[in-house]
Amino acid sequence: SKFKEGLSKTRDSFVEKMEDLIVRTKKIDEEFFEELEEILIGADVGVHTVLDLIEQLRKEVKTRKIEDANQLKPILTQQIVNFLKDGQSNELNIQSEGLTVILFVGVNGVGKTTTIGKLAHKLKKEGLKVMMAAGDTFRAGAIEQLEVWGERVGVDVVKHQAGSDPAAVIFDAIQSAKSKQVDVLLCDTAGRLHNKVNLMQELNKIFRVIKKEIPEAPHEVLLVLDATTGQNALQQAKLFKESAGVSGLVLTKLDGTAKGGIVIAIHHELQIPVKLVGLGEKMDDLQEFDADQFANALFA
Ligand code: GDP
Repeated sequence: SKFKEGLSKTRDSFVEKMEDLIVRTKKIDEEFFEELEEILIGADVGVHTVLDLIEQLRKEVKTRKIEDANQLKPILTQQIVNFLKDGQSNELNIQSEGLTVILFVGVNGVGKTTTIGKLAHKLKKEGLKVMMAAGDTFRAGAIEQLEVWGERVGVDVVKHQAGSDPAAVIFDAIQSAKSKQVDVLLCDTAGRLHNKVNLMQELNKIFRVIKKEIPEAPHEVLLVLDATTGQNALQQAKLFKESAGVSGLVLTKLDGTAKGGIVIAIHHELQIPVKLVGLGEKMDDLQEFDADQFANALFA
C-alpha cells in the first residue's frame, strides 16, 4: 500500500531493531522491556507514550503468561492502533450541503501550501468543487506557489497582493466561493510564529471574518506538522492546540523520516486526530490517515 511505501524509512530501521531484539530474547524480562523502550523512543514515539505502551504490554505479558517475544508483535501493533483510534474520527468534516471552510495553520516550511494543493486535487477527484485562498500573504513566494498548484490541479485561487491582510483575502474567497457554489474552500495562512500573542491575534481576526459569514465555520482547522522534525513537531502541536483550536493534524514528509513514531506520540499526548499524511512531494502523495494501515505498515 501507499502507507507501506511512504513509511519504508521508519519501517526499515524499526523492524530491523525489533527483529534483532526478538531473535535475541530468550526470556521476556526487565532488560527486554528496557531495550524495547529504547527502540520505540528512537523511532520518536515519545517518552510518555512509550511508557504507557510498555506498561500495557507488561500487563498483557503477565496476564496471558506470554513467554515467546514473537507473540508481542501483534499485541504491540494492536495497542498502537488503539492509541491512534481513541474514539476520534480521522475523517475530514466535509458538509454534505453548503460551503465547507478548512483552515490550514502551521509554521513555515512544514508543507502547508503543498498539502493544500494535494488536498485540492484529491477532493476534486472525488467530485467536489474546490477553491483555494492564498491567505499566506507573508512568506515570499507563497501566493505564487499556490497559484502554480491551482493551475496544476485545475482549481481557482483567490489572492491579494503580497503583504496584504490575510483576513481580507479569506473574506473575498468566501464571497467568491458562495457565488460560485463551491463545496470546499481551502485557506492557507501565514506561518510566522514570533510569539503566541501574534499568532493568536492574526488567527482570531481570520476566525471572526469566517464566522461572520458562516457561523459554524471553519469546519476544520488543520495543523500541518513536518514529521521529520520529530519532538519539535510535538512542541508546535502543543502551542497551536492552545492558540488555534486545532481540530485535526496533517503529518507531512513521513516518507523522509525514520521517525514516523511521532504520529503516535502526537495523537496520544494531545488527543488530536491525525487526518491526513503526506508521503511525498507529488500530487497524489496525500493519504487519509488510517490507524490500522499505519500500524501494520510499521511492523510488516
Ligand atoms: P509551507 O511553508 O508550510 O507552505 O511549506 P511548502 O508547502 O512550501 O513545503 C516545503 C517543502 O516541503 C517543499 O519543498 C515541499 O515539496 C516539501 N513537502 C511538502 N510535503 C511533503 C511530503 O509529504 N513529502 C516530502 N518528501 N516533501 C514534502
